[in-house]
Amino acid sequence: MNKSSNHIIPLTMPNIQQEDINQINDVLKSGRLVQGKKVRDVEALLAELTGVSHISLVANGTASLHLALISLGIGPGDEVIIPAFSYVATANVVEVVGAKCVFVDIDLPTFNINTEHINSQITQRTKAIMPVHEFGLCADMTAIMAIADFHGIPVIEDAACAIGATHNGRQAGTFGHFGSFSFHPRKTVTSGEGGCLVTAKPEFDKRIRTLRNHGIAPDSLPMDFVEAGFNYRMTDLQAALLQGQIERLSATLAQKRAIAERYLKEIRCSLVTLPSVPVGSEHSWQTFHILLESEPQRDALSAHIRQYGVMSNYGAQCIPAMTYYRNKYGNNFWREFPNAYRSYTCGLAIPLYEKLSDQQAERVIDSINSFS
Ligand SMILES: *Cc1c(COP(=O)(O)O)cnc(C)c1O
Repeated sequence: MNKSSNHIIPLTMPNIQQEDINQINDVLKSGRLVQGKKVRDVEALLAELTGVSHISLVANGTASLHLALISLGIGPGDEVIIPAFSYVATANVVEVVGAKCVFVDIDLPTFNINTEHINSQITQRTKAIMPVHEFGLCADMTAIMAIADFHGIPVIEDAACAIGATHNGRQAGTFGHFGSFSFHPRKTVTSGEGGCLVTAKPEFDKRIRTLRNHGIAPDSLPMDFVEAGFNYRMTDLQAALLQGQIERLSATLAQKRAIAERYLKEIRCSLVTLPSVPVGSEHSWQTFHILLESEPQRDALSAHIRQYGVMSNYGAQCIPAMTYYRNKYGNNFWREFPNAYRSYTCGLAIPLYEKLSDQQAERVIDSINSFS
């Protein structure tokens, strides 16, 4: 292998094609940059994909989670159960509405919330369970919906990474009251910034459309402001960028799955634990995340593969270990959430994207297999 090759293999790269650029040009030429037809067209496309009729495109995945919490009336005095290992936005939205995060540790090596630990965290104040489909693998929604239905607690799926992932044949984001997706460039499909909120419940759909648009009642004539809302709208330029990527999604996922299969088969390094996919789940492989035994070992592997031009980075945070959360919830996180802490300190995301060539995948595999 050509170790000196200086062609960098980045962690991720969007797959923007000429047809996407043409779509953006069409919007630019139309002069209708926001609140035009494109957002509605892409909402219809996503409805077809997920099988859920109520979809609102919004400014980003964090705005989407924020709207879900507000729609449920969650605020001060309330508790929301979330995994201790995720991107920090999952917890931030709970904090900004004034509610309390109740963290639950994750399982290894699925990196998803441990459903057995959820029950003991439920109190009178629990107003939502917010599982994360970490790295594009559905959390155990069968178990989570059983717990939530038993207690009558709404579920908000943080499916930011999981467009196209399935659990027992059902699309991520369609199990709970809400499913929230992100279209940040790190995700499988990107509009630069962007997100969407999915709900099967028409009463929430209307509220979300109102809140994302300054509190203007949808289709009200004359225009009426019925509550204090946000500007969380997506532009038509962003929707235009999404359209083709969503139409190509199944091909994109097939390509990513083929690369992931290869990694699972060919990465052979005794120090590396590979991610596992439970029976009945189809991973969307937004991120391929491996686990080492210690933090120095993880950092050494990252430096080693960097010599082959292979980029890597940690995958997500142990949220209770971040300064704000430590100050608020205490310093016991490493004992309370050992798997989340290990995933944060010993986990590594490696390159996986549609445009990764066979030779590049081979370089990724060889770089890891030569680590000792
Ligand atoms: C990316 C991500 C978000 C935030 O989405 P943005 O579009 O960047 O706001 C939230 N939760 C998880 C799990 C994510 O991976």
